[in-house]
Amino acid sequence: MKLKEKCCLRNIPDADFSTIYFPVATKTLNEILDSLDFSKRLPIARQFYPSLKENKHVPGFSDDPMGELKISGSTGLDFVHKYQDRLLVIASNQCPVLCRFCTRKRITFTGERRRDFPFEKLSLYMQKHLQIKEVIFSGGDPFMLPDGEIRKFMDECARFSHIKKLRFHSRALTLIPERFDEKLFLLFRDFHVQNPEIAISVVIHVNHPLEIGRKSLEVIRQFRECSIAVLSQTVLLRRVNDSDVVLGELFTTLDRSGVQPYYLHQLDRVSGSVHFEVPLETGKAIMKKLISTLPERMIPLYVLDGHEGKKQIL
Ligand code: SF4
Repeated sequence: MKLKEKCCLRNIPDADFSTIYFPVATKTLNEILDSLDFSKRLPIARQFYPSLKENKHVPGFSDDPMGELKISGSTGLDFVHKYQDRLLVIASNQCPVLCRFCTRKRITFTGERRRDFPFEKLSLYMQKHLQIKEVIFSGGDPFMLPDGEIRKFMDECARFSHIKKLRFHSRALTLIPERFDEKLFLLFRDFHVQNPEIAISVVIHVNHPLEIGRKSLEVIRQFRECSIAVLSQTVLLRRVNDSDVVLGELFTTLDRSGVQPYYLHQLDRVSGSVHFEVPLETGKAIMKKLISTLPERMIPLYVLDGHEGKKQIL
């Protein structure tokens, strides 16, 4: 079935089917959409279905909006050392879905799974940089890797006594919760027994309350049982979640599930994503409404990422 027919079947009228600029890879997307009522599908579908608007070239938007390829001491493809005490490792180039607004399209939209991560180079870098206290595994989604490779990353870090924290960024937890099986939790429990001094956290990427299903809640519960903190990050997206009602529901659901809402990101200005951008003033107004209605613990930091790091907007 062609993409256009699939969109019609799923009641996605505003997708205009561009595959010219970025390819489509929506392996699990249909299942997710089929689990929702027609009326509720649009905010989810818009994040993943391509649009002709992606072909629009707008000044200020680029393929590497965070300047990751230029940061000194980083390779931009393997790891990025932007903050003194944190090292961001691009552990995987794969995700369960392809977000059309992905900051690292240059990595995640490439198709084939990358299999040649330079572990030796990473070890050497960590060995030389004693100021690194936390290693963040991102990508892509590190949970798209086989268990053995996840453990290899963790063990490499545990060799260095200056590394005190490991953090995993994940979209898989909400979109393919079945990935988090007993074997994976055994791995985490075993690592904790061997390395009790290293704190682990998982930061889930979640943009809409409908993305959190029963199975995801169960995975969150299991992580917390393993003493692993679960936090969230959300991207503010036009016609997806740019309302205090939607975000209020999202942060309330997360809070009820034991997840700390951590960051609300202003969109990174990556090529092909201008139609997702919410003006800063609108974002601030939404945040002010949230601040006036929700308890402080449910309010994430509203931030803008840039070459120099994150700036808090509100
Ligand atoms: S989940 Fe994150 S890394 Fe993966 S495609 Fe979406 S924005 Fe990019």
